Amino acid sequence: MNLAPWQQRIYQQAADALDQARLPHALLFAGPARLGKRQVAEKLARRALCLERGMGEEACGQCRSCQLFDSRRQWTRSNDKGELSEMPETRPDGELVHPFGYSAHPDVQFIGQSWNEKVSPPKMRGEIVIEQIRQMSEKLALTSQYGVHQVALLDPADAINHAAANALLKTLEEPQPGRFIWLISAHPARLPATIRSRTQKLEFRLPAQAEALQWLIAQGHSQSDAENALAIARGHPGLADQWLGNGVLALRTEVAEALQNLRRDVSAISTLAQQWVADENAAQRLSFAADIALQAASKADAERIKKLAHWFDEANQCRNLLRTPIRADLAVLALLQNWHALWRS
Ligand SMILES: [Zn+2]
Repeated sequence: MNLAPWQQRIYQQAADALDQARLPHALLFAGPARLGKRQVAEKLARRALCLERGMGEEACGQCRSCQLFDSRRQWTRSNDKGELSEMPETRPDGELVHPFGYSAHPDVQFIGQSWNEKVSPPKMRGEIVIEQIRQMSEKLALTSQYGVHQVALLDPADAINHAAANALLKTLEEPQPGRFIWLISAHPARLPATIRSRTQKLEFRLPAQAEALQWLIAQGHSQSDAENALAIARGHPGLADQWLGNGVLALRTEVAEALQNLRRDVSAISTLAQQWVADENAAQRLSFAADIALQAASKADAERIKKLAHWFDEANQCRNLLRTPIRADLAVLALLQNWHALWRS
């Protein structure tokens, strides 16, 4: 697995500490979503568990441990009746659910949001619950199957609920040699301070522009696409890469053009409002619209800046309304009308 340069730096630092037996037992991989926290944690876990590697070497990829680590269950899970259900890609707040599947390795535990088996088909809960932490701790208390290390990965760690957090705290307070508990979070501030203070933070930050650009080009994007996407993603290479890959960038251009036209011409405003909420891209459109308002504010006079700031808030509120029973097209129509009015005055 090739890491991006900003991932490699963090990985190497932790890997060196691991090899010198000075890696703390609890780490917090913190930083914006899609910067590769999980990839780094997994590569580190694979290294920690490998049975054959020499000092300072990467995981061998051949031994029983490496093979088990790599052969995990993907995407689907079965319930008691053996029925398969697909992992959802996003959780209720829009964060990505990691697409990394479930551990087949006896010394690795991947702990994420739990499934509610009482409903059919099973549904994902938004939380990590106490039962999961209890199971994790019980397993960590046992001897590791391969006698090297045991790793428990909690992702997204901030999904932990209150009771589970208390249970986790107890486990963190009693570190055992050879046992690692790694928390992964794009929102570390949501974790209780008591938990944060018992972990060492590995902080993922947006890389320098040149590095991000070079990486995007290495992913196969053209220089101009990469520059454009990176600017729109505010320097976030992971997001830019995703947007280039799935056509989201074209969506932004569409939103920008529609808003530009709407400054003068309202003839298509009702159709536009309906179009904006007609598919699964509604939230992304409104997010881009808010972003475009911010951009416009950077070139506006003081009076209009105030209005644009207000409209920015409105657009974000409108995005939240999408999840409620309120008629979204009407809310968007009002938003678009306000946009037009804003440029008339
Ligand atoms: Zn190995």
